[in-house]
Amino acid sequence: MVDGNMKRVIAVMLSVMLFTGILTTTMGFAGSAQKCSPDKVELTFRYVPDENEKVTSVSLRGSFNNWDEWPMDLQPDGSWSITVCVEPGEHLYKFFINGEWPGNMATAHNGNPVDREAEGYADDGFGGKNAIRIIAPKMCFVHNPDDPAYLCESDGRLVIRLKTPPNQMISVSLISNGENAPMEKQLWWDFGEMWRVSLPSSGPSLPSSGPIEYKFELKGFDDQTITFSEDTFIFDGNYQFEEVPWVGEGVIYQIFPDRFCNGDPGNDGLALDTDEYNYNEFWTDEVLWGGKEPFFSPWDGSISSLHCCHQYFGGDLEGITEKIDYLSDLGVTIVYLNPIFDSGSAHGYDTHDYMKVSPKFGTEEDLKLMLDEAHDSGIRVIFDLVPNHTGLGFQPFQNVVENGQKSEYWEWYFINEYPFTPGDPDGYECWWGVGSLPKLNTANPEVKNYLFGVVDHWLEFGFDGCRVDVPNEVVDAHNFFAEMRDIVKEGHPDAYLVGEIWGLDGSWVQGDQFDSLMNYALGKEALLPYANGSASGEETFKKLAKYFSTYGENVAGMGFSLVSSHDTGRILTDLGGGNFNDRISKIAIMRLKLLSTLLYSMPGAPVTFQGDERGILGEKEHYDAHRYPIQWNSANKDLLAHYKKLAETRQEISALTSNAIFLYTANDNLISFFRGEEKDVLVVANNGLSSAEFDLPDGLWKVVGSGEVLENTIKIPPLRAVVFERMNR
Ligand code: CA
Repeated sequence: MVDGNMKRVIAVMLSVMLFTGILTTTMGFAGSAQKCSPDKVELTFRYVPDENEKVTSVSLRGSFNNWDEWPMDLQPDGSWSITVCVEPGEHLYKFFINGEWPGNMATAHNGNPVDREAEGYADDGFGGKNAIRIIAPKMCFVHNPDDPAYLCESDGRLVIRLKTPPNQMISVSLISNGENAPMEKQLWWDFGEMWRVSLPSSGPSLPSSGPIEYKFELKGFDDQTITFSEDTFIFDGNYQFEEVPWVGEGVIYQIFPDRFCNGDPGNDGLALDTDEYNYNEFWTDEVLWGGKEPFFSPWDGSISSLHCCHQYFGGDLEGITEKIDYLSDLGVTIVYLNPIFDSGSAHGYDTHDYMKVSPKFGTEEDLKLMLDEAHDSGIRVIFDLVPNHTGLGFQPFQNVVENGQKSEYWEWYFINEYPFTPGDPDGYECWWGVGSLPKLNTANPEVKNYLFGVVDHWLEFGFDGCRVDVPNEVVDAHNFFAEMRDIVKEGHPDAYLVGEIWGLDGSWVQGDQFDSLMNYALGKEALLPYANGSASGEETFKKLAKYFSTYGENVAGMGFSLVSSHDTGRILTDLGGGNFNDRISKIAIMRLKLLSTLLYSMPGAPVTFQGDERGILGEKEHYDAHRYPIQWNSANKDLLAHYKKLAETRQEISALTSNAIFLYTANDNLISFFRGEEKDVLVVANNGLSSAEFDLPDGLWKVVGSGEVLENTIKIPPLRAVVFERMNR
């Protein structure tokens, strides 16, 4: 992030910046005459209802907006439309009509396509089809020093990057102070290339410790096309988006407290006292609970219809404290706790009191003890903040229930009608139409102050950061999180702020909001399909290139890199290992080792959802079997040893915890990439079922683990990721 003055300078420069017209006339730093930023394209979507079709609302939801809702406008001709800015590439989307998903975008309009301009379709994972639009590569160069993706301080160096169209440039250099620093093609995909240079923090030429002026020199494949940028960029030397130093070198472990470990049977019954059941007056017993009341289950009890949310198992803070040694042994340095505050469910996302530890999990003293024990073992702990909605038992909501418009909390919510029945989604706005999760008005300064106070309180108490639930759904979200960051970082500059954003979206990590995001886009979208064999090496490479070009290296380095969580299926199940209680297939274990080795070898902190390291199976289906408690008397010991080894290797080889990654090669089954500023580590993976030949780069390479030293052409075993250390240059 740069300061306001700097932003203005850059804006002016971008508006006048054009390359000398040697390349094709459509090339250049476009953007000045367009509504969209230089790297994006304006695209209009239109829904044309049938003659007698009654339409009250249409919105656009797709891969470009995290499947969020962008309302389309009713036009005089009766159609609904919206114009948006999207990046070149393939985009999946649906029109959300009258508040409902059309199952199949190819046929849901009376047998016809819902969008006449769709260019193709892809399975949506729910038995229907998403529509596809494809935007061709844009012939422009992009460098926005205001965006960490193009300029950031990372690993103590200044990283400068330039995005070019694919396959146009033979070389790119950074020119500064009369010196020419060659840039390297670091990442490439169908729609672009990222060229990179990093400068030392100090030095005789190209100093980055102070202000620096620079421009780019580019050479196309035709020798005649040497071009310079006419104007000069300025970096004032004052980079303000500092890395949280303990994240990138860390290993993260996610704990779902009710299902991790029961340390104190004495508090087990308290879950039922605060359950939502006590507050929800809308749904009848039969409808909501299937005739069942919330209940306490033995640790190895059967999965019931209430398993996801109201079948309690008794896990608690004392149980976590008991397992600190286990976590430490696993190489864990950061624990992410699902909500631990007073709530109405086993998952805790329906908060009743943000300032109080849920009695079923223990007392404030238990929490203090757990944090102290963790800190003593070198483990930091982050909590889960849920600012978008509360539970029914939250005192301000209950005050509204009781006093209606006279309540001092009336403006904390969006009440549609009064009186209403608590739990009735028609009575007030709520999360995804779930009446037990009333939506907070986070544009209200009182609500903001309350929630910021909550964050401050728990950081003061001893937490080291927080993960934020559904930030994209929060009212006035970007302003809310910008204000929150200012407050948090003022008192706790080292606190880690990570947002639950599933897709690729750099807008949250520009330095003014989150440090990083939950990177499902890396683990679940790029690495999982590769590891389960459904994506080729080339496809995976493109996804990795898109991912690492979207985020600054500092942001990627602080990545919360996960494949599975309480919101997904078990990783082993997604890898074909079977469902809950099945016998695990051996090949799935090999696939998990391949996947986890890649995840632990990428920039960013790898995240393990509790029990994945022990070979637990389970689907995210109706009963959420993936949330079943860890049975501590059984584990896949081979897998457990593998996870320990991965953490040790990350500790031993500094290139693996650096932020720098350089793609190397990809083909059908193989991918390979370098790690570290000096490319000291090479990772080569094979997702095929037979071994594959690979040509090592020049020099001698040592296999991490076996210590074997290799050179020239080698064989990579099936379903294996191999990490090599460079022996010489
Ligand atoms: Ca307990």
